[in-house]
Amino acid sequence: MKIAVCIKQVPDTWSEKRLSPSDATLDRAAAEGVLNELDEYAIEEALRLKEGHGGEVTVVTMGPERAADTIRKALSMGADAGLHLCDEALHGSDACATSDALARILAGRGFDLVIFGCESTDARMSVIPAMVAERLDWPQATFAAEVQVAAGVLTVRRQTEAGVDTVTANLPAVVSVVEKINEPRYPSFKGIMAAKKKPVETLSLADTGIEAATVGLAAAWSAVTDFAARPPRAQGEIMSDDGDGGRRIADYLVTNRLI
Ligand SMILES: Cc1cc2nc3c(=O)[nH]c(=O)nc-3n(C[C@H](O)[C@H](O)[C@H](O)COP(=O)(O)OP(=O)(O)OC[C@H]3O[C@@H](n4cnc5c(N)ncnc54)[C@H](O)[C@@H]3O)c2cc1C
Repeated sequence: MKIAVCIKQVPDTWSEKRLSPSDATLDRAAAEGVLNELDEYAIEEALRLKEGHGGEVTVVTMGPERAADTIRKALSMGADAGLHLCDEALHGSDACATSDALARILAGRGFDLVIFGCESTDARMSVIPAMVAERLDWPQATFAAEVQVAAGVLTVRRQTEAGVDTVTANLPAVVSVVEKINEPRYPSFKGIMAAKKKPVETLSLADTGIEAATVGLAAAWSAVTDFAARPPRAQGEIMSDDGDGGRRIADYLVTNRLI
């Protein structure tokens, strides 16, 4: 089975994120870039499917040069190859352009299954898997807590706020996974060494046939028109309990429209 896993490099969750004053995009260089946490679960699930069914796992990312580190991490976990769409013109792309670019580099490569995390930790739109499935005209099974493949049919247990569904689809298909699906493995020393020799194909826009005018900040359907730094946190109010603590807290919450 040929599996692709779409992975994104995001600023470390604990780092302070800021927007660039020049173009109001996220200043990715200002924070350490890490593999989007949910994508680790997607990689793990792909590796488990490969271990059960044979085949190969290719990790796919669209991002700046340093996103190659994210590919290496996935390769050190056990993925076989990487595909990196990297072009300055992609900077500032919105979900429409991102999903179009990903669909174009995924199409025609014979993948049976494309696995995503269900959400990035930076933009958190949770739309890319569905948009890519639509562009590929493949069935999608999002928010998967369990994935099985047998005889060309995908069976997914979906976990959402509304409950649990079991859905099936013929391959090729798109899946996005939630963190309950598995426990991602750590890269071993052997895996880290092996990753250095695994193939990574780097593509530019010209290689994909995507026109520069249709991607990037200028082509985005949404624009950040203004922003301001979050005001410093105000000092909290300490209430000593003289027997009426509960009432005073309730009054405080009502006054501040918190209840
Ligand atoms: C109001 C707003 C303004 C924005 N402005 C900017 C901006 O100015 N500049 C800018 O750079 N971004 C901007 N973004 C973010 C940009 O739109 C998203 O990074 C992009 O659309 C991907 O969406 P997401 O990260 O929310 O993906 P989600 O749909 O949350 O991600 C789900 C999964 O899709 C996959 N995925 C997502 N992105 C990639 C990728 N690049 N490569 C491979 N797999 C991927 C991963 O598996 C991920 O787990 C903005 C977002 C919003 C909401």
